[in-house]
Amino acid sequence: MSQFLDPKYASFEEYTPGEQPKDFVYTKLNTNESPYPPGPAVTKAVSDPDLISRLRLYSDPTMSRLKKALADRYDVSPENVFVSNGSDEILNFAFMAFGQDGVLFPEISYGFYEVFGDVNQREYRKVPLLDDFSIRISDYFDSGKMVVLANPNAPTGKAVSREEVARICEKNKDHVVLIDEAYVDFGAESCVSLIKKYENLLVVHTYSKSRSLAGARLGFSFASETLTKDLEKIKFSTNPYNVNSLTAEAGIAALSEDSYYQENAEKIKKTRTWTEKELRSLGFEVIPSLSNFLFVRSDLISGEELYFTLKSKRVLVRHFDSPKITDYNRITIGTPEQMELLMQKIREILEEKNA
Ligand code: PMP
Repeated sequence: MSQFLDPKYASFEEYTPGEQPKDFVYTKLNTNESPYPPGPAVTKAVSDPDLISRLRLYSDPTMSRLKKALADRYDVSPENVFVSNGSDEILNFAFMAFGQDGVLFPEISYGFYEVFGDVNQREYRKVPLLDDFSIRISDYFDSGKMVVLANPNAPTGKAVSREEVARICEKNKDHVVLIDEAYVDFGAESCVSLIKKYENLLVVHTYSKSRSLAGARLGFSFASETLTKDLEKIKFSTNPYNVNSLTAEAGIAALSEDSYYQENAEKIKKTRTWTEKELRSLGFEVIPSLSNFLFVRSDLISGEELYFTLKSKRVLVRHFDSPKITDYNRITIGTPEQMELLMQKIREILEEKNA
């Protein structure tokens, strides 16, 4: 750290992204990316010579075409849509814009919430989950703060219903309720339709998971016109060209082949069911998941040992060093072939331990 760094940034811990190792080729089941590539419309869009020649110009700061395409797809108006450089950017903007009275989120959830709290100097309170990792919604009633919930939650994969989100919105009329639906396409109920009823609801989505575009960095949100304008204000005060032209075209193209991504999500759900069954047959406890990952533990091997031994066999999963979940690993659902390989390696590891 240099002598020049503002002391307010000195003490907080940065977010640690999942590993993207370059040393070996791994079966990568650690960052919840899609195992399937973007569809042909995306390839065609980003290879268009006209688009490439337009890269000398700034991207459209209003992102009107992308917003219109998203609005049509999700049955809202373009004025309800905000787009960003990955959904992390929207989360950060929301902490900046709406976190002045503090922020409330589950103790076990997406690790970046805490970092956004710290970097924006927001007071935040982490609410414990119940023993089975579920969220008790009454813990978020009359909070006097912005409420942030990943739904489904990460890394547990458990979800609350639309009805429950509606109650949280009702019970926090003076504060924003942010529902992070990064993983919603894998089986949970989306709350996008509720934005017509609740002016305090902000629903955040990403192209990084079900839409196979994690590297393009594209996030979007749905909210009332007024909340959306607030986010625009933060964007135009920080980075008006937050979404680049290539990514915007990739996003529009992906919407034109929506059924391809829906089919991939269905395949992932099927593979999830298969993997869950296989893991259970080896004695693993598997939290029922509505996401593209499973959160698992076993009495036969510690979370840390499983993580390191799988890594030595070139399979990467995610282990979190936090005491309450140290027994667990989060395993992204890949292709059926990847999951078969995972199960083969886990069997090997358990046999080697028994030998
Ligand atoms: N929310 C949750 C719950 C996530 O797990 C992630 C991915 N790490 C994000 C948001 C951010 O996704 P992105 O910035 O790639 O859109």
